[in-house]
Amino acid sequence: MSFLKSLRCRECGREYPKQALYVCEYCFGSLEVNYDYDAIQKVISRESIAKGPKSLWRYRDLLPLEGNPSAGFYSGFTPLVKADILAKELDVKELYVKDDSVCHPTWSFKDRVVAVALSRARELGFDTVACASTGNLANSVSANAAWAGFKRYIFIPHNLEKAKIVASLVYAPQLVAVNGNYDEVNRLCSEIAAKYKWGFVNINLRAYYAEGSKTLGFEIAEQLGWRAPDHLVAPAASGSLITKIWKAFKEFDKLGLLENKLKTKIYCAQPQGSSPIATAILEKADVIKPVKPQTIAKSLAIGNPADGYYAKDVIQDSGGSAAIVSDDEIRDGIKLLARTEGIFTETAGGVTVAAAKKLINQGLIPRNESLVLAITGNGLKTQEAIQEAVGAPYQIEPNLDSFEKTVMGSEKKHPETVR
Ligand SMILES: *Cc1c(COP(=O)(O)O)cnc(C)c1O
Ligand SMILES: [Zn+2]
Repeated sequence: MSFLKSLRCRECGREYPKQALYVCEYCFGSLEVNYDYDAIQKVISRESIAKGPKSLWRYRDLLPLEGNPSAGFYSGFTPLVKADILAKELDVKELYVKDDSVCHPTWSFKDRVVAVALSRARELGFDTVACASTGNLANSVSANAAWAGFKRYIFIPHNLEKAKIVASLVYAPQLVAVNGNYDEVNRLCSEIAAKYKWGFVNINLRAYYAEGSKTLGFEIAEQLGWRAPDHLVAPAASGSLITKIWKAFKEFDKLGLLENKLKTKIYCAQPQGSSPIATAILEKADVIKPVKPQTIAKSLAIGNPADGYYAKDVIQDSGGSAAIVSDDEIRDGIKLLARTEGIFTETAGGVTVAAAKKLINQGLIPRNESLVLAITGNGLKTQEAIQEAVGAPYQIEPNLDSFEKTVMGSEKKHPETVR
């Protein structure tokens, strides 16, 4: 059963056929998927979802396919970790970490959007898929396209982390490092997409792709016992993830799937060197000013965010706010999450943790209400960002004496992490 009706312009509302289209011919607004919610309402329930597969496909009634999925069978359904030790450190009552650092198969939430985009690409008849990426999308399209049997062209800025390059190349894509930043890569890809009949997951398939991010929000609500949290902090690059988490809560609310009244406040986390959305929010500006990104959080290094205005609206409509954090705060955020909860996140996750800490200390997030942090990627991919900041192992000789002198006699103390 498919509930995918059409595509619709987010600005003027004009409808378009459900093809690989992404801009409105009349007003240049971006297109969004339009569902038949009345029909969905008749079949969906908490029970029907709970009976589904332990993957993001348990929400397939709210995803933009006409038939069965053909990619990303094991993606999503990541843990929602009750983060009691971190809660104590941050002095808040009820804290959870949505841990997409362990999403299958490439350890970031991008596996969600790619599962949906590649399934739709197959339905639309593409044999080649492509993307413009800040790193994690490159990994995910490379891996998922290998599994699903697509030819694959991947475009990245030349200065990505080594692990993100290796973890793309290993899946044998045509990997193209462009001598420019993400915004330049993206512009080039728009030209290529106009000329070659490829499914660019975040360009001509963007309307479908973006819907995959909703599953992060659906899971949070389901895992909280069909409740939306009071507060949610998520990182932003293009701003798409934030808009879709909000859309997920709204859809669950509209379909009567939530136990509580939806009043989630959404907060945007961005790094100092690339914070166009957060800056506009904090300065109460109408205009989002593009920037030239310069940050260790390379997965968030988008200076001209495609969904910036929509993200800003969501944050402001929800009553949330934003925080901007420095590279040092990002490193501290990564280490704090690891030391307290045993979760090693990448730089984007460090941005989220550091931003949450700031928002709590500023009194913008109250200490006695439920809070979820969206941890979107894995720390093993961005080791160079913190290798200088984590210290070094003890060096000893292979004998007891050396161990006792060097290790047990050391002043270094174990941090207290007894649960
Ligand atoms: C892509 C990415 C984001 C940001 O996603 P947008 O939808 O572009 O805002 C956040 N975290 C990680 C780890 C990412 O790879
Ligand atoms: Zn339009």
